[in-house]
Amino acid sequence: MRSELYIDGKWVKPLRGGVCEVINPATEEVIQTIAAATAEDVDVAVRAARRAFDQDGWPKLFGTQRAKYLRAIAEAIRTRQAEIARLEVIDNGKPLPEADWDIADAAGCFDFYADLAEQLDNRPEEIISLADDRFTSKAVREPIGVAGAIIPWNYPLLMAAWKVAPALAAGCTVILKPAELTSLTALELATIADEAGLPPGVLNILTGSGSIAGQAIIDHKGVDKLAFTGSGPVGSKIMAAAARDIKRVSLELGGKSPFVVFEDADIDEAVEWIMFGIFWNQGQVCSATSRVLVQKAIYERLLARLVAETDKIKIGNGLEEGVLLGPLVSKRQYEQVVAAIEGARKAGATVACGGTRPEGFDKGYYLRPTILTDVPLDSDAWVEEIFGPVVCIRPFESEEEAIELANDSRFGLAAAVMSKDDARAERVAAAFRAGIVWINCSQPTFTEAPWGGYKESGIGRELGRWGLENYLETKQITKYVTDKPWGWYIK
Ligand code: NAD
Repeated sequence: MRSELYIDGKWVKPLRGGVCEVINPATEEVIQTIAAATAEDVDVAVRAARRAFDQDGWPKLFGTQRAKYLRAIAEAIRTRQAEIARLEVIDNGKPLPEADWDIADAAGCFDFYADLAEQLDNRPEEIISLADDRFTSKAVREPIGVAGAIIPWNYPLLMAAWKVAPALAAGCTVILKPAELTSLTALELATIADEAGLPPGVLNILTGSGSIAGQAIIDHKGVDKLAFTGSGPVGSKIMAAAARDIKRVSLELGGKSPFVVFEDADIDEAVEWIMFGIFWNQGQVCSATSRVLVQKAIYERLLARLVAETDKIKIGNGLEEGVLLGPLVSKRQYEQVVAAIEGARKAGATVACGGTRPEGFDKGYYLRPTILTDVPLDSDAWVEEIFGPVVCIRPFESEEEAIELANDSRFGLAAAVMSKDDARAERVAAAFRAGIVWINCSQPTFTEAPWGGYKESGIGRELGRWGLENYLETKQITKYVTDKPWGWYIK
């Protein structure tokens, strides 16, 4: 397992020799150290990425040629899926079947963008019809340049794939900085890209802290585009840095997504999707449906069933068979989530289940899945992202009230609705102010469909063809086609 920086096709030690510790959240043990890049390393990486883009011809390759590398990466991820999934578990804490799914998705993402890279070759130039027939005009798409991708710790390899795959497909070169808490699978990606023969400088992977390595990437004048997933406050900093140099920017930030369940819903199905919407990945999911609104007639019955099922979730080390809830990613995250539950209690909320460390765990950042009721609408627990296995649930009376409560948030990443009445479900889906809407489910995510938020949940869309657009510029080429002189100065 490599632990250095991957810059310009080589493994190198950080120039200042810094290291970060990697901690297994299930055991609290330091499992290895990795390099901590500084601005000096970022500068070397950006220069390499610039050369690969400006001189070495990566953007000039046919899409089919770039697709070959993407397919080789997808294939290698799949070949090593089991090993990479285990690495994700000891780094992030998530249960192995979830990690397995993430890694398969990451491979699928590289394949999907390989297809789109190939399609770029067949994309006809768009002819623009002009009112003036002395000119012809066409629009062409070109890669933006060097992309700086900064990703969080909740889906380490998958978030890397969501950015690296479309950027490379488009013809951009990339500097990727994984989250300091979970860099191991990104280092594996570097090994895989290297073995796939990706030309030097096309993909550079630098581990290190956000405030030093991340900040150096967003401040570097050689970077043309910033792509970020993570917290709102850091998203703001990234947008401010982008504003300074007019860098292109796409942001995928947090949410406080609602899940509206109508009285005609099947209670078992609703409970299943509510749980999947908030306890999957320990609730550390930007699109987690953390505010559940249930129509009054079924509220008490649904709540009782939800509490009973939640109490049955098997908690433990993600490598153990049958575990469905692992530890939170870090001590800091654990403490923040516990503090949020405490804050909710103080604000008057009732803890219907969970809220404490599970019995029998003296090591590891474990927390019982938690259901909060009677949560005041103006309390932090209802308004702010908790990013842990904590759901707030409350009753509503009418469709109008449900929509109003659902949209009453400064976030707008996702929203879900459950009802047997299809017309109603479609009506509510249309009324949600959110970028991702699920009907009769919550969380299933597909590489083909656009992903991103309204309001403070972000800017731009990832995945699907929208993900490729993120890394492309539009150029118009206009030609003067008449023999007649222009005749403005020279008559
Ligand atoms: P974060 O925003 O601090 O970190 C995300 C990434 O940004 C990491 O790679 C980090 O190193 C980097 N970063 C931090 N400061 C930076 C800077 N000044 N310049 C450039 N890069 C910088 O998120 P976090 O600490 O991992 O988690 C904090 C909170 O963010 C969570 O509690 C949660 O609410 C939210 N979060 C959201 C998502 C999401 O998918 N929307 C994912 C993870 C975390």
